[in-house]
Amino acid sequence: MSTNSKYRMGRRSILGATAAALSAGALGSVKALGQTREQVKTGEANRSASNPGPANKALEALNPDSYLPPPTDRGDLAPIWYSFDLVHRRIQYGGWTRQVTSRELPPSQDIAGVTMRLTAGSYRELHWHIANEWAYMLNGNARVTVFEPNGKIFIGDVSEGDLWFFPAGHPHSIQGLGPDGCEFLLAFDQGTFSEYTTFLLSGWLAHTPRRVLSQNLAIPEADLSKLPESGLYIFPGPIPGPLEEDRKAVGGPAVASKLDFTFRMKAMTPTADRPGGDARIVDSQIFPASKTIAAGLFTMKPGALRELHWHPNASEWQYYIGGSARMTVFASEGQAHTMDYKANDVGYVPQVAGHYIENTGNDDLVFLSLFKTDRFSEVSLNQWLSRLPVQMTRNHLHLSPSAIARIPQIGNNILLP
Ligand code: MN
Ligand code: MN
Repeated sequence: MSTNSKYRMGRRSILGATAAALSAGALGSVKALGQTREQVKTGEANRSASNPGPANKALEALNPDSYLPPPTDRGDLAPIWYSFDLVHRRIQYGGWTRQVTSRELPPSQDIAGVTMRLTAGSYRELHWHIANEWAYMLNGNARVTVFEPNGKIFIGDVSEGDLWFFPAGHPHSIQGLGPDGCEFLLAFDQGTFSEYTTFLLSGWLAHTPRRVLSQNLAIPEADLSKLPESGLYIFPGPIPGPLEEDRKAVGGPAVASKLDFTFRMKAMTPTADRPGGDARIVDSQIFPASKTIAAGLFTMKPGALRELHWHPNASEWQYYIGGSARMTVFASEGQAHTMDYKANDVGYVPQVAGHYIENTGNDDLVFLSLFKTDRFSEVSLNQWLSRLPVQMTRNHLHLSPSAIARIPQIGNNILLP
């Protein structure tokens, strides 16, 4: 049985066992003025948490820890959960896309996310945009190109677990390869960014007089008659040949970018490898192209805890790849909110807000944490406490010196239960 089910069952049996005992006269003794800590803690153990009115049972079941919050939760935090499965899927011949931006998740001002599918051979049209673009390959294979203002071009292939970073204003393309194209997550370093507002190659040419195009491209107007009449966005194409042929065909090393705009994240040696799981941290220190996004790929075993921590320099935008999670965010003023996460959900943590994540399922939990910064940074509660004079910790938390000595001293931990 998972930690989560044990937890839920325990709380539900309390609900059943004490409801009758607390009915009728039992509640008459509760003082009407305010709620004691004990009353708040046991509020769900009587009829107070009953819900006889309408309910969306499916949504309730998805977030049991928000519906019946842990007694330590309090207050009304801005949303820390959303799901790509709640938004419109823009399906075109060749693939689809959907997005979770600050319109869907208003607190996320730093990052907007997009997931996209391209079938084998299909293109995400040549385009550019105002935000920097970071990507993680969720599935399959793709070929990407990005052109630099210095006249150099990067052409590379990516597979599951690989990243790319395309700087703002640098035109680029993505094409699905065999055998079944690809799906990937895009993260833009502007919460208000929209995939609908990108600058499309065909869209610009469709809105430029043929006379001007003819002069600019040095192509007779008669040869421009088949130009698309509007932006293509996603459209099918033939699977390209080997990567080296493409690189050679455009001019080889003489025109090739000096910078690698891709990175093999999943294939790298873990930055932290612990009994409860591992973490791969990729920022501009090891992936120089990624100047504005730092990322962590976390894998946690069943029952494992991603320790209590916070990030001093950025908010955190999460994408859940697989498994089941519960995250609690502490946002000062005694506010705390717990939500549950599944694959394709998005999590959000405000900058400097304390948080921890539990794997509540029976499978590995895998998720990405993204930050709008060039440098990953994290404060570990355990590490902090273990660096303080014992007397100081003791005076604050009323712990014995032997208890304080047990606190793990290594930061960036993923702890087993
Ligand atoms: Mn793009
Ligand atoms: Mn975090």
